[in-house]
Amino acid sequence: MGHSKQLIDKLEKTSKLTEEEWISLIENRSQDTAEYLFERARKWQQTYYGKRIYTRGLIEFTNYCRNDCYYCGIRRSNRNAQRYRLTEEQILECCQIGYELGFRTFVLQGGEDAWFTQERLEEIVHAIRVNYEDCAITLSFGERSKESYRRLFEAGANRYLLRHETADEAHYASLHPAQLSAAHRKQCLWNLKEIGYQTGTGFMVGSPGQTAAHLARDMMFIRELEPHMVGIGPFVPHHDTPFAKEMGGSVELTLFMIGLLRLMLPKLLLPATTALGTIDPQGREKGILAGANVVMPNLSPTSVRKKYELYDNKICTGDEAAECRACLNRRMENIGYELVIDRGDVK
Ligand code: SAH
Repeated sequence: MGHSKQLIDKLEKTSKLTEEEWISLIENRSQDTAEYLFERARKWQQTYYGKRIYTRGLIEFTNYCRNDCYYCGIRRSNRNAQRYRLTEEQILECCQIGYELGFRTFVLQGGEDAWFTQERLEEIVHAIRVNYEDCAITLSFGERSKESYRRLFEAGANRYLLRHETADEAHYASLHPAQLSAAHRKQCLWNLKEIGYQTGTGFMVGSPGQTAAHLARDMMFIRELEPHMVGIGPFVPHHDTPFAKEMGGSVELTLFMIGLLRLMLPKLLLPATTALGTIDPQGREKGILAGANVVMPNLSPTSVRKKYELYDNKICTGDEAAECRACLNRRMENIGYELVIDRGDVK
């Protein structure tokens, strides 16, 4: 505890640790250090955001994907996935329902689906921009050229989520086919920042083969990138992937990493993710109490919810958007926080 506590204090003061220090902090964590960390993390969370939790409406607009990531349930090779695409009209309908429920950020997430050409994507972004002037538009559909990102930004998008997944090149290669690389994914993130997006990265906790050294490198990469948002969640196996039989990530380590992120970059937008809520019924509440300040409930039509199955047992696939909103309202109130109607920009 003594040494770990010193490292937590150092992180809080300087926002930097060496790789060895990160490894030591992660490997030697205990319930005591975690409690100490979460207390500091909540202090920073409340300094910048109070007890106000931002909410984003997630619209999963396509589950077609050209990639074949070994962990992901909508990977190209999964013949059992029932593929779907939302029309522009359906997407705008999701926004309308969301707007009425108080959402002021829409997140368009999907696989890398070539049917959605540059022109179609710009058209959709533009339509949302014109109809919902006071809302933020977040995009999350993978790796694209800098030119494509720039044009989408000009069409009205404000934010982009692209988890780096793991900062370590060899570990990245063990989770993805050879065509994909950590270097290219990171380059996309630098490009997004340069264009002016509020940029989000992140990683899975407990992905197969992950060590404390890998997590140390994730923290160091994030420190260098200085993103506005970081989404992390436990790896959860999906039965139709090469990783079906692998072990999932733990709630405990995920929460610890959330606390460390809050302390390293205290203004971060940090979601308590659906994957965390999936492996623990109180996962999202615990995420908030470890330092997170964002939740991202689903706005996709219930008819397609189950089909966007990145991992097994994903929660909230049967609920209407309004039920999700009400349920999260209740959950946040139970722990002394409140969901707010706000674009939820970074401080
Ligand atoms: N195609 C987009 C969106 C990917 S889905 C992109 O490339 O960014 C969003 C995130 O879900 C991924 O970045 C990944 O970190 C996470 N994810 C995918 N499969 C998962 C699994 N089996 N368990 C937990 N998280 C998973």
